[in-house]
Amino acid sequence: MARVGFIGLGNMGGGMAANLAKKGHDVHAFDLSEEALERARKAGCLPVGSAREAADKAEAVITMLPAGSHVEQVYKESVFGIADTAAVLIDCSTIDVETAVQVADAAAAKGLTAVDAPVSGGIAAANAGTLTFMVGGTQDGFDRAKPFLDDMGKAVIHAGQNGTGQTAKICNNMLLGATMIATCEAFLLAQKQGLDPQKFYDISSVSSGQSWSMTSYCPLPGVGPESPADHDYAGGFASALMLKDLRLAMAAAEASGTDTPMGKRAAEMYEHFAQGAESGLDFSAIIRSLTKTE
Ligand code: NAD
Repeated sequence: MARVGFIGLGNMGGGMAANLAKKGHDVHAFDLSEEALERARKAGCLPVGSAREAADKAEAVITMLPAGSHVEQVYKESVFGIADTAAVLIDCSTIDVETAVQVADAAAAKGLTAVDAPVSGGIAAANAGTLTFMVGGTQDGFDRAKPFLDDMGKAVIHAGQNGTGQTAKICNNMLLGATMIATCEAFLLAQKQGLDPQKFYDISSVSSGQSWSMTSYCPLPGVGPESPADHDYAGGFASALMLKDLRLAMAAAEASGTDTPMGKRAAEMYEHFAQGAESGLDFSAIIRSLTKTE
């Protein structure tokens, strides 16, 4: 088992660090929040006083932070010059592709190996150790990161060079945002036309309109397997986080000159929906804004 430095113990990082400790790793954990540090201690991690202390002597340094600026700052101030060149640096946060590539290049210039390894799965999967990791980096970086990621997830996939993990994440979530809106529309139209939503589910879930948004995460309460819709859209994947990912996708589309009209429309709709009180609701709650315009 290895010494792991874990920085960022929030909704996602807390469960991930706990799973590493459960697997027997010696997890030196840091967060700016005292509460998060206390939760990590209860979960079997060793809370430390700074990100530098977490990175020191670690075989793997894992970050799970809000955005690219946090990752850039933590790497610059607390990882570079501290972490051993034998360590692998694994950033699991969802950040912009450009920053992911920049920090990996800066790491390489210092003789360090870094990979981007964003996740799909959400808080429940982080707690259960069933995340999917999409990894961008060299083959050597991937091989060194994989055993740690295996201890926190159910699937670890090498996407390609540095940055491609983030690309996979934002493309996946752009698709998810667009299919969720389309699924909401289809259910509402079916209902307006006098078709029972359960009947539409029974038919479409085994027909060509089927998607994860329909069969694993149905936006209508009482239809399909249990989903946030059955709990008044509490929990799940917050609309504000979907908006964050769609903004990252739109930035990447603009930077690469890619036309993504469906993604753009989804981003516009979540910009509108994920404001104020509703930003904390699950992203499938966007069905409410479609119902309102009826
Ligand atoms: P969060 O806000 O709950 O946690 C982030 C943590 O980072 C906080 O505890 C904060 O105190 C800490 N932090 C911020 N700056 C720090 C610093 N300089 N040093 C140490 N700690 C610092 O966010 P989260 O929901 O855990 O999400 C983390 C990342 O995972 C984000 O990039 C998010 O987009 C991504 N993600 C989230 C979900 C989800 O369902 N929540 C799903 C997939 C991916």
